[in-house]
Amino acid sequence: MEIWLATNNKGKVAEFQKMLEGLNFEVHGQVELSYFSQPPENGDSFEANARIKARALKSVKPEVWVVADDSGIVVDGLGGLPGIHSARYAGEKARDSENNAKLLKMMTLRSATHRKAHFHCCLVAYDPEGNEHIFQGDLHGNISKVAKGSGGFGYDPIFIPDGFEKTLAELSPGEKNAISHRGKAFKELVQKLRS
Ligand code: IMP
Repeated sequence: MEIWLATNNKGKVAEFQKMLEGLNFEVHGQVELSYFSQPPENGDSFEANARIKARALKSVKPEVWVVADDSGIVVDGLGGLPGIHSARYAGEKARDSENNAKLLKMMTLRSATHRKAHFHCCLVAYDPEGNEHIFQGDLHGNISKVAKGSGGFGYDPIFIPDGFEKTLAELSPGEKNAISHRGKAFKELVQKLRS
């Protein structure tokens, strides 16, 4: 049975392939479909954006499982920002370091009283019959005062997960995957696929 991921990120495809080892699934990424163009992500929630991506891929792969994920960081002291705008917080083509610098600056400008935040991941999947399945995962923690560490990506250098004294960028990939929002949501999906 094929399962297609609505992502151009080969790392995500490889990670998912690993989680499905031993099961009878062949994992593919939309990047393999040269004719496929990603729809605009103009939803107003993680779920809406994941659904837009999943539906677009399902329209060209109707007979198999398709899965889309959408994720980002939600900062309490910034009223939930950057949220669904995480990838482009500091501008359309912003680098991770620019997004991190903007977030740290906004925390100072707003005199955010606490630095609580969480990563959220929403997965929307369609099975071969066309039924929709939704899986979610969160990782709670705090925004650090300064960026630290060189691992991971995105906001990892400025996020300290609850129960740790290091940023996500200072953890090993294995440590991060074991607690991450994406890891949790994907584990739920894997359980569904096993059943
Ligand atoms: P995507 O939906 O997984 O592509 O993530 C959108 C944006 O959210 C990314 O560009 C990152 O800025 C941020 N993000 C999502 N997951 C993570 C994570 O695990 N660590 C750091 N940043 C993340």
